[in-house]
Amino acid sequence: MKRRAFLKTLPAITALASAASAWGQGSPPGALPKPGQTASATVNEQAALRIKAKDTLTALEMNRGEAVDFELSSGDIVRIELVATSARILRTTLKELKVEEHRGRTDYTFDCVLRVNGREHRLEREVSTQRSFYEPWEIDGVRLWFDAVQDIFAFLLEEHGECRPRKHARFALQDAALRICPETLHPWCPLPEGGLKIIDCYRGEDCWLGAYNGASAHGGLDINHAPGTPLWTPFDIDDHFYFNSLNMGHNNNRWRGIHRWPNGAEWIIQAHHMTELTVDEHAPLRKGVQFAKGAGVLSGSVDHSHFVFKVHDYGETIHLDPWILFWQMYRDAEETRPA
Ligand SMILES: [Zn+2]
Repeated sequence: MKRRAFLKTLPAITALASAASAWGQGSPPGALPKPGQTASATVNEQAALRIKAKDTLTALEMNRGEAVDFELSSGDIVRIELVATSARILRTTLKELKVEEHRGRTDYTFDCVLRVNGREHRLEREVSTQRSFYEPWEIDGVRLWFDAVQDIFAFLLEEHGECRPRKHARFALQDAALRICPETLHPWCPLPEGGLKIIDCYRGEDCWLGAYNGASAHGGLDINHAPGTPLWTPFDIDDHFYFNSLNMGHNNNRWRGIHRWPNGAEWIIQAHHMTELTVDEHAPLRKGVQFAKGAGVLSGSVDHSHFVFKVHDYGETIHLDPWILFWQMYRDAEETRPA
């Protein structure tokens, strides 16, 4: 991790970051409710955090009872309060929850109640069905990705990559008039025609937070690839390197690339299981360059690439569903497609 680079961006966000941590102290995460049980809290009117929409999306974790005033580029302020969260299993093949079984399968749903400018909205997600590849909500001028709730860890483990939110729920917010970032994205890999298919996520379960072997939240998005499938840079990469590799003695090749946006946000992306890098490490890369031959190393019973997306901003690093990047890539590919 490029610690020094992170520190450089800190002074500009110190005020907001310390406000954020002070804001978080009033309502520490409580005990997880039982699956299916909805936990809710009363919102403290005085405690809203103020965040201005940037030209890149804002990753945000919230506890129940917390509120954020999200300022759109128009200057309008949208108050978003997290009222309640819950999660429940739709179906499982496990004999015992939280105990992995080879080819075990658990599908689940999670939801939250948000009060947006005083009106309540119930948002529901489903994993790992085809609905894992969801459309974001648009409420009062805010595009809203409902990424995760802590409640899913009442029946899942975090043993397959970091993915558990540190607060009750995790979102990505953006002004609905803006893209997820100011530039168009190049496909990270060949985009399957018609969108991502859950059936092509390893054995049909390893989307973001999907239950690997029925029990472990999957800390990435798998897309099945023949070994050698090209991986391209979706945006300019300022620095990149293997943080794990067969050459260094690890069991897998794992690559990390970093892009620093002028607004101070850093996007960190990872790809795992590639057979080889096709460019030198640490040299900056332009958008759209092939950097690796994907899949083939430790890729289990179905060759695949494993993708990870993190946003470092306001002094913290927050994991998000790589699907958000792919959602934008599909839109961008559609717009640049010759008529
Ligand atoms: Zn994976």
